[in-house]
Amino acid sequence: AGVPAAAPAPPPARHVFSDPAEVEALRRNLLAWYDRCKRDLPWRALAATEPDADRRGYAVWVSEIMLQQTQVATVIDYYNRWMQKWPTLQALAQASLEEVNELWAGLGYYSRGKRLQEAARKVVSELAGRMPRTAEDLQKLLPGVGRYTAGAIASISYGQATGVVDGNVIRVLCRLRCIGADSSSPAVIDQLWDMANVLVDSSRPGDFNQALMELGATVCVPKAPLCGECPVKQHCQAWRRKLFGKPPPVPDVEDCAVGDCPLCPPATEPWDSSLGVTNFPRKAAKKPPRAMRTATCVLERRGCHGAPEYLIVQRPSSGLLAGLWEFPSLPLAQDLQEKKEREELADHLQAWMGQPVAAKGLQFIGEVIHIFSHIHQTYVVYSLNLDGDVTLDPALSPSRWVTEDEFHASAVSTAMKKV
Ligand code: SF4
Repeated sequence: AGVPAAAPAPPPARHVFSDPAEVEALRRNLLAWYDRCKRDLPWRALAATEPDADRRGYAVWVSEIMLQQTQVATVIDYYNRWMQKWPTLQALAQASLEEVNELWAGLGYYSRGKRLQEAARKVVSELAGRMPRTAEDLQKLLPGVGRYTAGAIASISYGQATGVVDGNVIRVLCRLRCIGADSSSPAVIDQLWDMANVLVDSSRPGDFNQALMELGATVCVPKAPLCGECPVKQHCQAWRRKLFGKPPPVPDVEDCAVGDCPLCPPATEPWDSSLGVTNFPRKAAKKPPRAMRTATCVLERRGCHGAPEYLIVQRPSSGLLAGLWEFPSLPLAQDLQEKKEREELADHLQAWMGQPVAAKGLQFIGEVIHIFSHIHQTYVVYSLNLDGDVTLDPALSPSRWVTEDEFHASAVSTAMKKV
């Protein structure tokens, strides 16, 4: 008979919460702080007062999707407008993608709005309008809902005692337990989920999770954390280490200071005392964003009342900025000469308009740089004034002429507004 495989070794004591009394104290301190200091946010009010469970789950879901990659201050106004327009899953399910994109314009990562609406349609048509009530079902049944969002909806709307791990929680937990291994690695992420599930308070799971995230957003911030005001500093290994200059003198804590602990900072990059608690978390170097150049042309004509109008065209319904409107644009190869760029753009416009466009007639306006999550995009902006009428080829993507006000009210990206 073979030797049974050894169970994986438990993580070193220094990196976990193993003392139930300490866990209790941390919950108490964190929740008391949250009750005193939490920000008033519209989705919190809805989560606390909405009696209908499906509406409540929907209200939290919308906020969680909007808050991904976007600041709270920016989200509030979008959230209020969204909930006013589509207060229920049923209302959202009936909206058109164009309306969703229009309201979303400016929030970035546009596919989030589209996927939210697709998922709402699914709940209405396949689940009889009933939101799944547990994190497991939410993640399994709702497209676009990952582990974090599922945990947030289930704990905040339905009181399920399940933890959450987002960027703020990663930072706080890595500091609380001196986790200095790459915080984007699957091993560390798994460890943090386990820790979040141990810590979550079963009587107030939604508040506890929000408190942990709020702590990361307002106190345990990335660059200059306010440790002096922190309600959990007595539980924080990074803070103690900063005070004492070395790991506290507890035998099991010393254990992993030597050897190759999978959660300690790598031996090649040890604790740097000038960084203090911001030694944690650590991330492997990010891939640099991809550089792209795109020529774009603002075509202008006099509208029937003499006011200028601009041509916008719709992007394909999948891929980057799917379904949004933009000035006619053409991705360029890197290192093209300016003359060549201009000629390519003129050819592109000619295909649109079915009439010759002289490259010389394009007036260079300037360059606009916009950073998408993983793309460093440079728009090379030209303009062209048209005298006569233009008949656009209807076989090409949808297009329309808009005034400046209409342009701003359309589903256009922030990058195009900069242009
Ligand atoms: Fe973060 Fe400082 Fe609080 Fe530790 S003591 S959790 S590092 S704010």
